[in-house]
Amino acid sequence: MLYDSLNHLSKSETFKNAVLKGIAPDKGLFFPRQIIPLKKKILNELSKLHIHEIAFEAIQQFIGNCIPKRKLKNIIEETLCFDFPLVKLDKDIYSLELFHGPTLAFKDVGARFMARCVEYFNEIENENITILVATSGDTGAAVADGFYNISGVNVVILYPKNKISIIQEKQMTTLGKNITALEVDGVFDDCQEMVKKAFLDPQIIQKIRLTSANSINVARWLPQMFYYFSGYVSASKFDLPINFSVPSGNFGNLCAGLIAKKLGLPINQFLACTNANDSVPRYLDSGIFQPNKTIQTISNAMDVGNPSNFIRIQKIFNNDIHKLKKNISGYSFSDSETKSHIKKTYKKSNYILDPHGAIGLLGLQKHSKIIQNETGIFLETAHPCKFSDIVESNINIKLDVPNKLNNIFKREKKSIKISNYSEVKEFLLKS
Ligand SMILES: *Cc1c(COP(=O)(O)O)cnc(C)c1O
Repeated sequence: MLYDSLNHLSKSETFKNAVLKGIAPDKGLFFPRQIIPLKKKILNELSKLHIHEIAFEAIQQFIGNCIPKRKLKNIIEETLCFDFPLVKLDKDIYSLELFHGPTLAFKDVGARFMARCVEYFNEIENENITILVATSGDTGAAVADGFYNISGVNVVILYPKNKISIIQEKQMTTLGKNITALEVDGVFDDCQEMVKKAFLDPQIIQKIRLTSANSINVARWLPQMFYYFSGYVSASKFDLPINFSVPSGNFGNLCAGLIAKKLGLPINQFLACTNANDSVPRYLDSGIFQPNKTIQTISNAMDVGNPSNFIRIQKIFNNDIHKLKKNISGYSFSDSETKSHIKKTYKKSNYILDPHGAIGLLGLQKHSKIIQNETGIFLETAHPCKFSDIVESNINIKLDVPNKLNNIFKREKKSIKISNYSEVKEFLLKS
């Protein structure tokens, strides 16, 4: 399988090179040249297969010869080492809980898969690689955990000081070893800017092999299709059309769902749900893509003004907005709607939402006012305790932190304070 750059000026690459480069030299995102639907026999028997087998069938063509079958199966088993329960909230309304992984966020799936691919490529190549990421919280935590102790890989995470939750900060600053956290005196956009600068800095890229680990990277983006298969299999027994509501920021997650549909998974409709950063819902309304500056909200992992993966979504529909609109409906919600929905849902269904999942559920309920007799699944993308300050003040209870995180508050934070780009550069060059 070859990956083309969506800017069409760089040469095509194998899966391995697309992963190690992250982005094409012409700054285009990599996109698989072909997407071949799964065989009918497999699609008809999904409910008889284990999720590891389904995942292998789904992703195999995208890896090609870059990883031997045995090894790929191994990577999948280690990636999918936790469940994705489907929890009923109401008639035809379900939460697909994606937060049972090690850092309590859906990003664990992509991060664990990518880390193991990079580890394998390193074993055969033996050249150190540095993963450089900017984070508004969840990405840094999942990447730190996924790559912890992976040999030949250094991880450098830039996060905005005082702008992430306590759990998220502990998750990336207390591991040590090959994980370093840079605490930036600024906002997420400043971190992102510094990372972009480093990727273009000749002195840095001459000396260090850098790659990214956000959903731009195909090894983080594509495995996210696994839980759509899992959710579909769990819901197929209801025998109704199945819709997925996806709380979206950079749109990697929703885009992976569209790939699952391309592979033949009979998903009826996708709901693209956003906070005030509503570039995509506005596009679906007006037909004009006009990204805004990023707005800060309480669902901060979705604070993205100009979603990187939108271009991949357009590519999937050959830039035909009519086809796109047939498959995706857009909804956006304010912080006050999000907060009151967390409260309302707790009262009505005794279910605790996090602010991101709350937006997914809001979209689903709005959509099901128009359409009935379909199964609606919203993706609950993070455990509510990661956003305890917002959730607890809305429902007036103290949230339990899952056992696996109990020790985290005792571990010592280690970070390097950063106030400008040249300090990042100095750190990278001497490390
Ligand atoms: C990253 C993230 C999102 C947004 O996912 P995208 O793939 O960027 O659209 C939603 N919710 C949570 C909790 C996240 O961490």
